[in-house]
Amino acid sequence: MKDWIATDFDRELFDRELNAFVPDHVFDAHAHLYRADHFPADKQPALIGGGPPIAGMKEFDERIDEITPGRPTEALFFPFPNTFVDVDAENEFLYEELKNRPHSRGQMLTPPTMSPDTIRETVKRCGFVGLKCYHVWSPRKPTFDSFIEEFLPESHVQVADELGLSITLHIVRSRALADTANQETLRKWCQKYPNMRMILAHAARGFNAHHTIEGIHSLKGLRNVWFDTSAVTDCGAIESIIRVMGHDRVLYGSDFPVSHLRGRCVGLGDSFLWISSSNTDLNVPYGDLKLALVGHESLRTVKVAALSTGLNDSQVEDIFFRNGEKLFGLGR
Ligand SMILES: [Zn+2]
Repeated sequence: MKDWIATDFDRELFDRELNAFVPDHVFDAHAHLYRADHFPADKQPALIGGGPPIAGMKEFDERIDEITPGRPTEALFFPFPNTFVDVDAENEFLYEELKNRPHSRGQMLTPPTMSPDTIRETVKRCGFVGLKCYHVWSPRKPTFDSFIEEFLPESHVQVADELGLSITLHIVRSRALADTANQETLRKWCQKYPNMRMILAHAARGFNAHHTIEGIHSLKGLRNVWFDTSAVTDCGAIESIIRVMGHDRVLYGSDFPVSHLRGRCVGLGDSFLWISSSNTDLNVPYGDLKLALVGHESLRTVKVAALSTGLNDSQVEDIFFRNGEKLFGLGR
């Protein structure tokens, strides 16, 4: 069972568990496009090395149909953030790919060293609706310990407020939303910059659900914060967001191409682990253990969250497309 290759096992899992749950179309609030040649050959992430060399709209449409078959999908696209990627080339590629995609939107990569004027100019020229920051560009090492300010400067947040932009933020530090420094910055900026729209990726990086469950109350009452479900494959975090913030804050995201890896991220102790065939012994005596695609594990997790919080069909549709369409003014 390989990454990137969908099999009958995957199709059967979707038909059995997810086909009746996923609405007939999707707005995907977290999807990456990339060109492999925008990475130095010796520094290509394994995920990208194993996939198509160019992942533009055509490849996205073909491959996302393996995760959510028969569901026409528009998206909030952004490039694949990485230390070595050619940021300008990736932003330009995104701009070109979006030209024939009037119902999708794009967020540009914004390393912290990018000047606010460059962001302003690029957003206006390319019609981008937001920013994609990432911890890998933080000066702190390891970058996973970074405070938000170290990879998302306040000057970028000011531009977002000025232009009404969204920011997809994958918070780090070991306890994510349970970290008081993260909580304080998020609350302070969301209040100070009400026109900026903060999207906390991965259920506020709820890869260990207990971090989001512990910290979600710190954001209560804020109306310019959303949460995407991308790559969240363990129960509890999405539920706590629905209960405390409301289901209208939740945006479905595939995290394409992470959707095409096999495995699952589970909370363990006070951290989490991405289980894959390379770090886990799959030879078990009680059955035939095969890893499913992350995209399907993530849909299962959204389904359990909807069931356990008692969402009706229309509220499930809100998560899968209406909340995102509303956020970006894309109502059909
Ligand atoms: Zn992502």
